[in-house]
Amino acid sequence: MKTSLAIPVEATTSSRLPKTDFSNLVFGKTISDHMFVADYKNGEWTDLRIEPYAPLVLSPANATLHYGQSIFEGLKAYKNDKGEVLVFRADANWSRMNESAERMCMPAIPEDIFMEGMIQLLELDKGWVPDAKGSSLYIRPFMFATDDYIGVKPSDTYKFIIFTCPVGNYYSKPVSVKVETQFTRATEGGTGAAKTAGNYAASLYPAQKAQKSGYDQLLWTDGKSHSKIEESGTMNVMFKINGTLITAPINSGTILKGITRNSVLQLAKDWGQPVEERFLTVSELETALKDGTLEEAFGTGTAATIAHIERINVNGTDYILPTKSSDAFSNKVLAELDGIKYGTIADPHDWIIKI
Ligand SMILES: *Cc1c(COP(=O)(O)O)cnc(C)c1O
Repeated sequence: MKTSLAIPVEATTSSRLPKTDFSNLVFGKTISDHMFVADYKNGEWTDLRIEPYAPLVLSPANATLHYGQSIFEGLKAYKNDKGEVLVFRADANWSRMNESAERMCMPAIPEDIFMEGMIQLLELDKGWVPDAKGSSLYIRPFMFATDDYIGVKPSDTYKFIIFTCPVGNYYSKPVSVKVETQFTRATEGGTGAAKTAGNYAASLYPAQKAQKSGYDQLLWTDGKSHSKIEESGTMNVMFKINGTLITAPINSGTILKGITRNSVLQLAKDWGQPVEERFLTVSELETALKDGTLEEAFGTGTAATIAHIERINVNGTDYILPTKSSDAFSNKVLAELDGIKYGTIADPHDWIIKI
């Protein structure tokens, strides 16, 4: 892809690539050689640069550390069998990041800074995109306040950084989830639709409680009545009941607008699969689990693409889901998305950019 921003590059003199064991990648632990950085001051983004990945120096009065003005994105790059690097739906991540920025009183990132910063970083670090089947390069753009001031107000200065992590074959095993009816992830008027740090901090305690009783993740319910299924901690969720795919709508302000969610719904539409974007109630879910009309349940998100759910706890009772047939919708949609991402099948919706 052609780029036009002149971004100065300070290349590392001691690449960590030769010492990296690509057969033992733990998600998020191995970080590539370089990062893209831009600073916001005096009302504009300046000092665009690519430099060696390194710790930052922060003042103890840094506003983010106290009040959490911080947002992030997550997307992936894949290697096709010609060794070319493909990025999935980066434009959607860029626009979602700006929606998060607006909610958190942070400045928007111009499209060229986001896209070209990412593309030029990937060009430099393309050796970090793993080629083993099923592996990829996770891309983490994020922005945070940098004013050294402990008054509660929007910061005047910010830093935008992109770094990347090679991640291994993410054949996730099916997950167990618990319907959460005490704690709340998001509520109308809150920040649930923004990919902002505090949402994740607030979810740790209830998630840890559930993990201690043997569940991988929570299925959050609405904050007001705890009677409607919303989503999971880092994934949207979908249920196939009596042939219809059901997932929460994104207009309540409480649901993160997942790009995987949107992609799955697009493919469902292409295939004529009936879809309802509406809240599934906890009691409907319970009934469908009891009478066997629940055919499939899965999470959708960039990390796993599709995470099959095998066990759901509703109101204290565990339900085991039926084992999926090989023609299950979730398997078909996972295969299709993988095909598009790795460039082995056509990309009818222009979701891929080639670096
Ligand atoms: C990031 C995220 C998702 C999934 O979004 P994708 O764009 O599909 O990766 C879903 N829910 C929450 C809360 C998230 O943070």
